[in-house]
Amino acid sequence: MIHFIGAGPGAPDLITLRGAELLKQADVVIYAGSLVNPALLDMTKEGCSIYNSAKMTLEEVLEVMVTAEAKGLDTVRLHTGDPCIYGAIREQMDQLDQLGLPYDDTPGVSSFCGAAAALRAEYTLPGVSQSVIISRMAGRTPVPERERIADLARHGASMVLFLSAGMLADLQAELLKGAYTADTPAALVYKATWPEQKTVRCTLGTLAQAGADNGISKTALVLVGDFLDTDYERSKLYDPAFTTEFREGRP
Ligand code: SAH
Repeated sequence: MIHFIGAGPGAPDLITLRGAELLKQADVVIYAGSLVNPALLDMTKEGCSIYNSAKMTLEEVLEVMVTAEAKGLDTVRLHTGDPCIYGAIREQMDQLDQLGLPYDDTPGVSSFCGAAAALRAEYTLPGVSQSVIISRMAGRTPVPERERIADLARHGASMVLFLSAGMLADLQAELLKGAYTADTPAALVYKATWPEQKTVRCTLGTLAQAGADNGISKTALVLVGDFLDTDYERSKLYDPAFTTEFREGRP
């Protein structure tokens, strides 16, 4: 069996209980070495074969999986955060389907959740924004034209940008073409939940400068939107006058 597992954003104790259990039992682990905290590998049992996928091609990863499967071994494919976000798991799963090899997928805490926790922020404030847009700048991997940052930014919603910390000046310019202004609050979160985590609060107008001043150009998320600093309305759910399925409201 092959287990895809979300390792969480960095802190080793942010993997799920299920993920940790599967990791402890694994005979073979293929981990995304560029971002998964290697401290997680301390959980593996003695004799476990460990591969760093940062140095491997898709073909090489599959080769390891196929060989392990032929021997009846348990393989863990450890991805950073949650594998469903920029995890390149679909291409692995499709190949495994073609080969008729069994796999399952255990979710993890995505770094966009780790970053919000680091900032003690809530993306979905009533009266401010009820949507979170996750996107990225185009890099060597293109982004569909209809998802240009400038277009997504027209909503003025809470936004989280992955894989873009090396292009902060361009990102800033794109975001400013939307509904945000130079004064819209923004933040950089470097290595959320790792010991070396760094959070930098700024405005959209000072985003690129803040990155340069703090030496942040990779392994970081950019957060932008009024959720980072503004007035908001109280939630209806916990309003004394609001009746829900579980509680009678009182005037
Ligand atoms: N599947 C992962 C994302 C992988 S893409 C997830 O769910 O988080 C890799 C990008 O994620 C990095 O370039 C960076 O933008 C972001 N990232 C991953 N871990 C991070 C962390 N601990 N802190 C800040 N950003 C992180």
